[in-house]
Amino acid sequence: MPDDLKPSGKKHHYTTRLSHAGRAGTHVHGFVNLPVHRGSTVLMPTVADRDAAGAKKFDQYLSYGAHDNPTLFPLETMIAEIEGGTRAQLYGTGLAAVIMPLLAYLKSGDHLLMPDSVYGPSRRFANGMLAGYGVTTTFFDPTISGTDLLALLQPNTRVLYLESPGSHTFEVQDVPALAAVAHGNGTKVLMDNTWGLHHFQPFQHGVDVSIQALTKYAGGHSDVMLGSVTTNSDEDWHIVRQAAIVLGQTASPDDAWLCLRGLRTLAVRMDHQQQSALKVAEFLAQQPEVKQVLYPALPGAPGHAMWKRDFSGAASLFGIELQPGFSTEQAYAFANSLELFGIGASWGGFESLVVPTSGEIVRNRPNNQFSGELVRLHIGLEAPDDLIADLRQGLDVLHTNSIGLSAAE
Ligand SMILES: *Cc1c(COP(=O)(O)O)cnc(C)c1O
Repeated sequence: MPDDLKPSGKKHHYTTRLSHAGRAGTHVHGFVNLPVHRGSTVLMPTVADRDAAGAKKFDQYLSYGAHDNPTLFPLETMIAEIEGGTRAQLYGTGLAAVIMPLLAYLKSGDHLLMPDSVYGPSRRFANGMLAGYGVTTTFFDPTISGTDLLALLQPNTRVLYLESPGSHTFEVQDVPALAAVAHGNGTKVLMDNTWGLHHFQPFQHGVDVSIQALTKYAGGHSDVMLGSVTTNSDEDWHIVRQAAIVLGQTASPDDAWLCLRGLRTLAVRMDHQQQSALKVAEFLAQQPEVKQVLYPALPGAPGHAMWKRDFSGAASLFGIELQPGFSTEQAYAFANSLELFGIGASWGGFESLVVPTSGEIVRNRPNNQFSGELVRLHIGLEAPDDLIADLRQGLDVLHTNSIGLSAAE
């Protein structure tokens, strides 16, 4: 993220804050980092002190491990800093960070708008438990214009939920236009900004509440489960904070500590992985077995112009569509043949990953967009030339399988 995107009034650049924020100061014998505070009970000198701490009138003592933990505070500050908001609340997983604000803002009889390309478990929650609670959801075309969104808004549309680019299919949404239309209807704008961490400033584009799966690039080492919700107003922060307390949601101090450590290198990792991803994407776009590359950062790819307008960079996660004619079995054989790409969920770590995704794509609207098999790649910190060589041998495997490219042509 370019430093000039930071809200004004801060003395140092954002990248400097990634290094200097949330340190121990002089509290731990001069050690740079804070220790991990594991804790449930907080002992108080007197009962009156306990009452004061519970009422947040007394700064010296925190009230309870589930609500306040000195290892979580610096991470919350750092996340708010990266997202450009005022405050953040941590949750135990990225999915919890999706669900809790939806529960906090919606009630029975409300209407929710979600893009059809939303992260699968977010859709599952809307169609399952939320529907059971009497919340109706309309799934919309992720590339919808503000004008077309207007027609979908109802008086009871309480939340517009965005996720850009979309999971698996990477459609870029016109966040500022959609947010402006929603606000005209008194609708809150929530956004899953996991792909855009470090590169998309949600609050400068009209978002009210920004959700992060910190499990991904923030942790950065595939060893943490964590989520966050960042807000840009005290009012929204209290809603989100209250939901965490009422629903018994908290985060592990060990995971928070690891995430804080991961964030120290966020800028270098993300910038490096983006460059590698672009190199790999450019290679793939030229291979005859690949119909298209779904990477908004790639010139000519779907959503590139809007990505360029709104983002300062890109995550190293993208999709490819194979030529129609290659079967699901062949897409699986391609994934199986890769030596440097692990087959696995999640992303944002230091290691490259591959998953065939056609089977995971659920759409409420008719989906004739893709005629070939979809495969999602996450580019890690390996040398891009090695990854490219591995992908080329993997594409060769497509031809040794039953229905070859000749059948596709
Ligand atoms: C992974 C992911 C989540 C959920 O994060 P977890 O920490 O795995 O629960 C939410 N949204 C998006 C877009 C994700 O990719």
